[in-house]
Amino acid sequence: MTTHNKTQTQLIHAPRQAPQYIETIQPPLFRASTIIFKSTAHLFDRHWTDAYDYSYGTHGTPTTFTLGDNIAQIEGGRYCLLAPSGLSAINLVNSALLTSGDEVWVADNIYGPNLEHLNNLQDRYGITVKIYNPVDADSFQPTEKAKLIWLEAAGSVTLEFPDLKNLVKKAQQAKVLTALDNTWGAGLAFNAFDFSDEHLSVDITVHALTKYPSGGGDILMGSVVTRDQALHHTLFRMHAIQGIAISGDDAAQIQRSLAHMSLRYEQQAQNAQILLDWLKQQPQFSQVLHPSSPDAAGHSFWSEICTTGKSAGLVSVIFKAEYDLAAIRKFCDNLRLFKLGFSWGGPVSLVMLYDLKQIRTLENTHLQQGLLVRFCIGLEHPEDLIQDIQNALKQLE
Ligand SMILES: *Cc1c(COP(=O)(O)O)cnc(C)c1O
Repeated sequence: MTTHNKTQTQLIHAPRQAPQYIETIQPPLFRASTIIFKSTAHLFDRHWTDAYDYSYGTHGTPTTFTLGDNIAQIEGGRYCLLAPSGLSAINLVNSALLTSGDEVWVADNIYGPNLEHLNNLQDRYGITVKIYNPVDADSFQPTEKAKLIWLEAAGSVTLEFPDLKNLVKKAQQAKVLTALDNTWGAGLAFNAFDFSDEHLSVDITVHALTKYPSGGGDILMGSVVTRDQALHHTLFRMHAIQGIAISGDDAAQIQRSLAHMSLRYEQQAQNAQILLDWLKQQPQFSQVLHPSSPDAAGHSFWSEICTTGKSAGLVSVIFKAEYDLAAIRKFCDNLRLFKLGFSWGGPVSLVMLYDLKQIRTLENTHLQQGLLVRFCIGLEHPEDLIQDIQNALKQLE
């Protein structure tokens, strides 16, 4: 006969419960798969549309809802769903809204993996993917099958700012839902849910929280924000049945970083502006791309919509045609402060090289031929970053 050892039970049922309420700077962190129901009444009286009636970890905890509510507020929306990455948030929108036979429109400069995802849906489910030129609203010609248009302001890599007004107006007339990848603007450069004198609004914003909200280059997350309750419920249902869930620890980390997101955004934008001015003087580049440049495609749309003059810290350059891939690789390999890597919004400046021929579908008369390098400006001193680029350029001579 063993003596009854209570230790194991005691270890599990700790005597001290968390206090109902103490005030701290950061909200408390909840980690949960199971959430304990107070009673069977609580269990049975829930309704799935009431997100805040906590039921299971995948559906959220106070930690994830706090972050979601913050993101919705920053972006000017009302409802927020969180996903484990920006791409997962994009996927949620596509899978919740598109069915066989539908047509979906994407900007030529859309975030590449979104297009890859849609092409995959096209092949397997008979969804038609059509590409439009973001600075030419006339290139968006929705048929009666059109369900969704993806917008991105400014677009990935080549940073053209779209004709958001006319694209959204055309979409509304054609009853096409508008989804904006809002990672670049981060809810800070403009309000996607109210961006013109006429109070135009997109239906959905998707944001890779991996970038500015995280700010550390170490956490992946994405959000889907809406204002319309019915649309939110459509997305929420898909979110639930797909088991899309995020870690409470990750949510708390991003929540913590939000406090200084706009300060970082502005500093990175300012540093990028300093680099932009310097890059424009360098003879090795045929084009320097940034929406604030008067000669940039979509510049007038940027000045009209980003009335605060804000931009993310991204600048791309196109090397003159005499620089071949070997030279561009050498340039990237010789950078010391700029690290070679995807993503942006963290403290460390990053560089990535692209071949325009491989990342664009349409003819783009506003882009020069050549290889493109994108700089993502971090929080280092801009003079040090300039020195770093200058050194790497010198080594090409
Ligand atoms: C990074 C990024 C994404 C995807 O975010 P992940 O969290 O890396 O999956 C989507 N859209 C844009 C514009 C991005 O820059």
